Amino acid sequence: MLRSLLIRMSESKRLERFVTSTGPTRRMAQRFVPGASLEDGLIAAHEVNRIGHLVSLDLLGENVVGAAGAKRAAAAYMGMFDRIATEKLDANISLKLTQIGLDLDPALCEQLLTEIVDRAGSFQNFVRVDMEGSPYNQRTIDMVKRVRARGGSVGTVMQAYLYRTEQDVRDLIAAGCRIRLCKGAYKEPPEIAFPKKSDVDANYVKLMKILLTSGIYHGIATHDPAMTAATKQFAAEQGIGVDKFEFQMLYGIHTDLQRSLLKEGYRVRVYIPFGSDWFPYFMRRLAERPANLMFFLRSLFSR
Ligand SMILES: Cc1cc2nc3c(=O)[nH]c(=O)nc-3n(C[C@H](O)[C@H](O)[C@H](O)COP(=O)(O)OP(=O)(O)OC[C@H]3O[C@@H](n4cnc5c(N)ncnc54)[C@H](O)[C@@H]3O)c2cc1C
Repeated sequence: MLRSLLIRMSESKRLERFVTSTGPTRRMAQRFVPGASLEDGLIAAHEVNRIGHLVSLDLLGENVVGAAGAKRAAAAYMGMFDRIATEKLDANISLKLTQIGLDLDPALCEQLLTEIVDRAGSFQNFVRVDMEGSPYNQRTIDMVKRVRARGGSVGTVMQAYLYRTEQDVRDLIAAGCRIRLCKGAYKEPPEIAFPKKSDVDANYVKLMKILLTSGIYHGIATHDPAMTAATKQFAAEQGIGVDKFEFQMLYGIHTDLQRSLLKEGYRVRVYIPFGSDWFPYFMRRLAERPANLMFFLRSLFSR
């Protein structure tokens, strides 16, 4: 119930205005979001690369309300490939389709995604299209497939909490698509998603096995030690090398697990979000872990 409430609150513009105007909350958000500017994101990316992790940079933003905003976000992503190359970062990018206009004008969104993916290709880089709530699921899959079919260096994300995901995973693998597997961060009804965590976890393991034996390079995105242990065990049993997949985790979460996997020789990519639109991302992180909420409330009321 608390998780649903927090996810619903993440969509409130009024709460966003209140929360983002408080200094202590902004400071708390820095645990998950290193800063508002590209420079902040790049500094964090250098630090994370120095440790030995790969990076995926995400300019925060979703559900833009005008074509100008969508074009601005796309231009920012294009510029990021130049900076990644000139600063010799080992990083790709992650983006959300509603940030580049999916809600407004799907044709514009596809054109912008194609341009970003083409730019990535010119740098031998890669674009990961994040998966948003279920109303965007099919449209995201279809658009990624179309842009990929033109030779684009693009992949997407599958959410283990959805019943449909096994079929989607099989279809995307048949299309040669690289997948990031996660549990899923949105509030979905029981008609389409497993309500019980144990079922989500079981599906995650099942999907992980399909991905690892597909012969395609995928990302296993989780902070759950049970999921990483199952992945390591399955890879070892199947003789799947550590260079055939990567683990992925979010900036600021379970850095101990990130480092221990790295020490064991696994690839670990850290997802680094930056930007001023951090509120919905931050609220989803609170929803994932009640202990975060206590810190947040204390910071709000200690102003
Ligand atoms: C790289 C990456 C990209 C992602 N992209 C997407 C996406 O495109 N679409 C989408 O729907 N979801 C995405 N997610 C979020 C994902 O769906 C989950 O909501 C999130 O990862 C929590 O699930 P978990 O696998 O870590 O397992 P859980 O069972 O939720 O957590 C396992 C343990 O990890 C730790 N943990 C988890 N979350 C937090 C947190 N917020 N703060 C502190 N500790 C925490 C806790 O110790 C917890 O016990 C992404 C996650 C990652 C790692």
